[in-house]
Amino acid sequence: ATPTAVMVATGVGANNGVLIKGGDALERAQKIRYVIFDKTGTLTQGKATVTTAKVFSGMDRGEFLALVASAEASSEHPLAKAILEYARHFHDFDEPNTTKNAQTCKLESKSFGWLLDASDFSALPGQGVQCFIGGKKILVGNRKLMIENWITIPVHVENFVVELEESAKTGILVAYDNDLIGVLGVADPLKREAAVVVEGLMKMGVNPVMVTGDNWRTARAVAKEVGITDVRAEVMPAGKADVVRSLQKGGNVVAMVGDGINDSPALAAADVGMAIGAGTDIAIEAADYVLMRSSLEDVITAIDLSRKTFSRIR
Ligand code: ADP
Ligand code: MG
Repeated sequence: ATPTAVMVATGVGANNGVLIKGGDALERAQKIRYVIFDKTGTLTQGKATVTTAKVFSGMDRGEFLALVASAEASSEHPLAKAILEYARHFHDFDEPNTTKNAQTCKLESKSFGWLLDASDFSALPGQGVQCFIGGKKILVGNRKLMIENWITIPVHVENFVVELEESAKTGILVAYDNDLIGVLGVADPLKREAAVVVEGLMKMGVNPVMVTGDNWRTARAVAKEVGITDVRAEVMPAGKADVVRSLQKGGNVVAMVGDGINDSPALAAADVGMAIGAGTDIAIEAADYVLMRSSLEDVITAIDLSRKTFSRIR
């Protein structure tokens, strides 16, 4: 392709909300063999909502939600935001009386009056969060977080989590003072175009892959809904780039589509990194393409544009 053709293609891309950082990236996209999609926020809407909150201890529901939300208050994770939203709704509208209960177990008001004072907060990437409330340790996250902290997961709790996961939800476990006190179920619906785009890619001879830090059971349920058979789950944040490198073996051109901070090493490692426009700045910086409309259809637009631009000189 002539420099003019590249310039024209870059302009066409920009008009469609596909920002291409350079002619090399534009050229590589025609040869893509694999497109790896991050699950949360890329295939899914990234609008997690709590659908279930089950308390297994004798604790009052309002108090349970206040504890969990307070533990998550310093987290930037979409799951944390979903939990805060749910707890806020419960405390503000559903049962105003529980506000009083929560307040009796001493609190410090941040933006919501019923939030409890949490100290020594730490976020554990790929696992969850931990902090101290009322002098006792609280853990909110997945099984790995519980296992690493020697928390026993009773069989009836495990069964409840499995049930959530089989219906494509993420189960979040809560331990307080070394006891497993409850579980939250979080749903994050697929983007409307996701399944059609996956099908379209396969028709173009491109293999779709899903990668996620979420657990295997939820991952498989989501992958099934979207039509992807190649799934990599329970991948630690640093591991996404390894997935890219393993698919690149034998000279395959690999694209990665992601939105999060966790995705930036993989976006950089990929031959073609595509960041969702609504994603984090770090992801956008690491990528070769930015999909400004945040629509997965633009993955196809990008490949088409490259194929059309470079087929002329062959
Ligand atoms: P993804 O690749 O889906 O964006 P992450 O690596 O961010 O996943 O997280 C993987 C898993 O770690 C989540 O599915 C969840 O189980 C757990 N996790 C991470 N952060 C939190 C949090 N703030 N609260 C609860 N669970 C969390
Ligand atoms: Mg994500």
